Amino acid sequence: MVEQVDLIRLNQVGVRYQTGNEALKDVSLSIKKGEFVFLVGSSGSGKSTFIKALLREVRTTSGELFVENKRVEKLKRREIPFYRRRIGVVFQEFRLLGDRNVFENVALAQRVIGIARKEKIKKNVCEMLKMVGLAGKEKAYPKELSGGEQQRVAIARAMVNRPSILLADEPTGNLDPENSWEIMRLLEEMNRLGTTVVVVTHNHEIVDQMKKRVVTVQKGRIVSDMMQGGYEV
Ligand code: ADP
Ligand code: MG
Repeated sequence: MVEQVDLIRLNQVGVRYQTGNEALKDVSLSIKKGEFVFLVGSSGSGKSTFIKALLREVRTTSGELFVENKRVEKLKRREIPFYRRRIGVVFQEFRLLGDRNVFENVALAQRVIGIARKEKIKKNVCEMLKMVGLAGKEKAYPKELSGGEQQRVAIARAMVNRPSILLADEPTGNLDPENSWEIMRLLEEMNRLGTTVVVVTHNHEIVDQMKKRVVTVQKGRIVSDMMQGGYEV
C-alpha cells in the first residue's frame, strides 16, 4: 500500500486556535521515512504550530494527520506519552535542566520511558554523547557549555530513545554561523542513520547550501514544496 511509505501525512489539515486565529489552513503534505525536510516561512506563518500538531500539543481542527499510519487526532489520552516516544524534539532555546549535568539531562529521557537499569542507561547515554561529540562532558552543567554544546546535549536527549522522527524548531536560532553549521551537520548525520528529520529554520545560507527538500509556508498555507530547494521567503 502506498500509504505505508508515508511516515507523516497531512490531508487538508487546519489548526484554528481558540482566539479564532487560523495558524494552519488546508495543509496537505507527505513526508516519507528517511526524508530530511526544511520548513521555512516568515514569523507567524504557522511553523511552530505544525511542529506542535505533530506532537499533539495542539489539536488539529480540520483534516487528517497521520504519523506512522496512526491517526493522531484519534489518540487517546493514555496513548499520547507512548506516541510521543517516537518523536524527538529540539528547540531554539535548548531547554536543558540547569541544575542537572549533561549525563543527567540525557539520562532523564530514558528514565521517563521506564528504562531502569543503570548500566543500560549509562551505555545508551554515553553512546549518544559520543555521537554528538560530547564524550568527556558528562559531568559538566549546561551553563559551563557553549551554546553549540548545549544544543548538542539537547540533540542527544532527543535521540537517546531512538525515535523515528526528529523535529527541530529553529535549532540554530541562538547560534553563530559556525555552530549553526555544526548543528545542521549533526542533524544530517542523524538523518543518514535513518531518522526522519524536519527542521524549521530562518537560515537562508544553510537551506540554500544543503539542497534538501524545502517546504515553504505563508500565512498558514504551503506555498511551495521543492526537492533540493532553496530559501525563497
Ligand atoms: P511561526 O512558528 O511560523 O512563527 P506559529 O505557529 O508560532 O508561527 O504561529 C502561527 C500563528 O498562530 C500566529 O499568528 C500566532 O500568533 C498564532 N498562534 C500561535 N500560538 C497561538 C496560541 N496558543 N493561541 C492563539 N494564537 C496562536
Ligand atoms: Mg515558531
